[in-house]
Amino acid sequence: MILGDTIAALSTPRGKGGVALIRISGQDARVICDRIFRPKSGKSFLQYAPPRTALYGGLLAPDANGEFLPVDDGLVTFFPGPASFTGEDTVEICCHGGVLLTQTVLTAVYAAGARPAEAGEFTRRAFLNGKMGLSSAEALGNMLEAQTREQLTLAHTGMGGKVEGRCEEIYQSLCAILASIYAKIDYPDEDLADMSREEMLQALEGCESSLASLVRTYHTGHAIAEGIPTVICGKPNAGKSSLYNRILGKDAAIVTDVEGTTRDILSEIASLGRVTLRLFDTAGLRETDNPVEQIGIARAREALRSAELVLAVFDVSRPADDQDRELIQTLSQLENTTVVAVLNKSDLCPGEPEETYTSAFSHTVLLSAKSGEGMAALEALVERLFTDGALDLRQDAVLTNARQHAAGVAALEAVRRAILALRSGVPMDLCCTDAEQAMSALCELDGRSVSEDIVTRIFSHFCVGK
Ligand code: GDP
Repeated sequence: MILGDTIAALSTPRGKGGVALIRISGQDARVICDRIFRPKSGKSFLQYAPPRTALYGGLLAPDANGEFLPVDDGLVTFFPGPASFTGEDTVEICCHGGVLLTQTVLTAVYAAGARPAEAGEFTRRAFLNGKMGLSSAEALGNMLEAQTREQLTLAHTGMGGKVEGRCEEIYQSLCAILASIYAKIDYPDEDLADMSREEMLQALEGCESSLASLVRTYHTGHAIAEGIPTVICGKPNAGKSSLYNRILGKDAAIVTDVEGTTRDILSEIASLGRVTLRLFDTAGLRETDNPVEQIGIARAREALRSAELVLAVFDVSRPADDQDRELIQTLSQLENTTVVAVLNKSDLCPGEPEETYTSAFSHTVLLSAKSGEGMAALEALVERLFTDGALDLRQDAVLTNARQHAAGVAALEAVRRAILALRSGVPMDLCCTDAEQAMSALCELDGRSVSEDIVTRIFSHFCVGK
């Protein structure tokens, strides 16, 4: 698919740097570049532009009178389509990274005929030209946003088209099943179908198990790529800020003996083992007359309700008191939230932790936020709760966002309906409808057929120049 116009943008960040990269993509990329580039060899760029080879030369830009004059020397590389990132003819210009200089070269490219690219438009063109599936494009977006090493690994594997590969396998099986069903429907008296009813059932069950395991990977993909909203709560001085800083590996929150220090909610991205935490440190929960602290406590309660993981910190160097018991009561009312009781200040409490805690919570970890002892156990527990240790992030297809998961679930449910239909002996065409629905959900998952709105929404999250 060739899209009409030629786009250009700065692909490196705006600001002073050693070099800057300007990318041009579209059918006129080479002609446009020829207007602003004079190779040192003396040959014109239109005459001589060996594929994927950097050429050194002068870069021109219009002056106040519109005359194109040299402003810099740089390297220019031509990537002929369709073997380019976007699938179209693409030119990359590397110039020096001055702010005005870069802007001047970019303006020259526009003056020579390119249109400014929209956010994510290069990747969108790559997708529309069949260079990558939608899940791979999403993985590329995740790569640019990654804040943890695990997110990078997952994004890198996803860019290799793993999800699309799995979708294709299942899609092809469903195709074969459908072909057999249609043969049976259209020519009931002839034995044209490749599969018997029993074989179709087996093949559908294979698709079901393959889809179910793909859908299950979202548990891990969500924990790594999207991150688990995690609230640290506890009464004042239990050690919440100490734990927050310990997980982040830096002094982000103020740690003092003065109760009620943390009032606003602090939030950062952190990794605990493989898991990405969207970590919120909250005000200590207690009764107070201080209006500012009261607002902080109300926010803390609100944050608790939307958390997926709560790290409830208790100071076990002292006996549990009414505030601790009240917190245990509040936490027991949370639904769909995993609560881990962090029994803190283990360095001051050599014995076993009180039964008050061990009997109230299914998950407890004894640790010292101050010394770090016991943190490995917390890490291992969170990993076990939120990821599947059997998944190999460097190899396996993993669903990483709610869109992919919803499409996977729709495909799985449709396959399950097809199996039921086939088992119950209803007319074959009912089974066809279900199998077709499964196939269209798979096409949505890998982006082969997906609405314009969704595509626009996905690529609008990209930066300009990507
Ligand atoms: P917060 O009010 O719950 O955020 O508690 P802080 O993290 O500010 O800690 C309150 C006090 O307890 C500070 O003096 C910390 O140094 C101390 N503290 C926190 N964790 C530990 C721990 O594991 N062991 C010991 N001995 N002291 C701790």
